[in-house]
Amino acid sequence: MSTVDFRILFPHLAGVRVEMVRADGPLLRVQAAADQVEASCPDCGGASRRVHSRYQRRIYDQAVAGRRTVIHLKLRRFFCDAGECRKTTFAEQVTGLTARHARHSVPTRQVLTRIALAVGGRAGQRLTGHLALSTGRMTLLRLIRTMPEPAVATPRVLGVDDFALRRGHIYATILIDMETHAPVDVLPDRTADTLAGWLREHPGVEIICRDRAGAYAEGASTGAPDAVQVADRFHLWRNLGQAVEKDVVAHRGDLREPAPEPVAPPPPRPEPATTAPVQPAEPRLVTRTRERYTAVQRLLADGVSRADVSRQLGLDPHTVRRFADAASINDLLVHTRRDSLIDAFKPHLNQRSTTAAPMPACCSPRSASKASGAASRRYAATSSRFAPPRPRRRPTRPHPSHATSPPGS
Ligand SMILES: [Zn+2]
Repeated sequence: MSTVDFRILFPHLAGVRVEMVRADGPLLRVQAAADQVEASCPDCGGASRRVHSRYQRRIYDQAVAGRRTVIHLKLRRFFCDAGECRKTTFAEQVTGLTARHARHSVPTRQVLTRIALAVGGRAGQRLTGHLALSTGRMTLLRLIRTMPEPAVATPRVLGVDDFALRRGHIYATILIDMETHAPVDVLPDRTADTLAGWLREHPGVEIICRDRAGAYAEGASTGAPDAVQVADRFHLWRNLGQAVEKDVVAHRGDLREPAPEPVAPPPPRPEPATTAPVQPAEPRLVTRTRERYTAVQRLLADGVSRADVSRQLGLDPHTVRRFADAASINDLLVHTRRDSLIDAFKPHLNQRSTTAAPMPACCSPRSASKASGAASRRYAATSSRFAPPRPRRRPTRPHPSHATSPPGS
């Protein structure tokens, strides 16, 4: 094979002298030696021709004719004679073929990185096995981790929020470009100094969209004093919802039944047995929360530790802590009012559906069938919940080990 042909087929071997190629079972072994006269120090960049020693590296290359290729490459170690350089000696690298501490050739590393990015570690391991490139999954994941970080422009509108690496213990901060919704960076904690440092290193942020945590406010003021700070929509809505809900629950004793409407009574109609007025039952979730709160408080009053309460009742320690720290049951019921918006109207709707009274046009099945698929499904889901209650067995007290965790835990 002529030199020209060889370089067309294997351009990454242009910098070495191939001495021998032989098939060895599933392997293709290539014996080669570095062909360059001098090498550059990786630390100072200075060229050196003074050889310190010689050694051999084994470099795995892409498969040829279904055989895994192994290059047995003779390399040299050079002295670095630059006086100010920290290195005394250094190993030479072949441009386009080798990299420091890498067991795969540069083109092979690029292929493996693409495979790892496309299919991940385990699937990549299986795939490379079929391509005669057998590579472990951890090697593939390491290739992803060693990729350089993509350059991200400093966003004009920056979103700042925290997230849990380990809930209740370790939190970090994520920065989002609010105009493209792309993650920009992750900070290792959620302190003011870290955020301020990032903002100083990335000037140009005009608007900082954050939650109401004091640390972020301080960090934003310090790091980007000219930026406008706004509360993000999610936290505004959530805070408003929580405040209103807490207020309503706290004052629910003051709520009165609406006065009956002064309209003429409808003509007497034989009422089926199921149209007896149904009092809105307390939601099961509220009942369960009340029972758990009572049980937790009773055990704690008896001197049982929180850990033992958790074991005895089969509750998560976080749940026990929440129940123990609650000043009253109302603090817990704020978060248990699920699906409660229609509870007050259920008796009325049950009565309407069982007395064959005409439903409003917007609620009739006929109009619902004309509506969109999503609207039809909503109607179906809603109407089934409004159906007359089926006779039920008396609910038994849930055993703690069978109970699911309460909301918010
Ligand atoms: Zn040097």
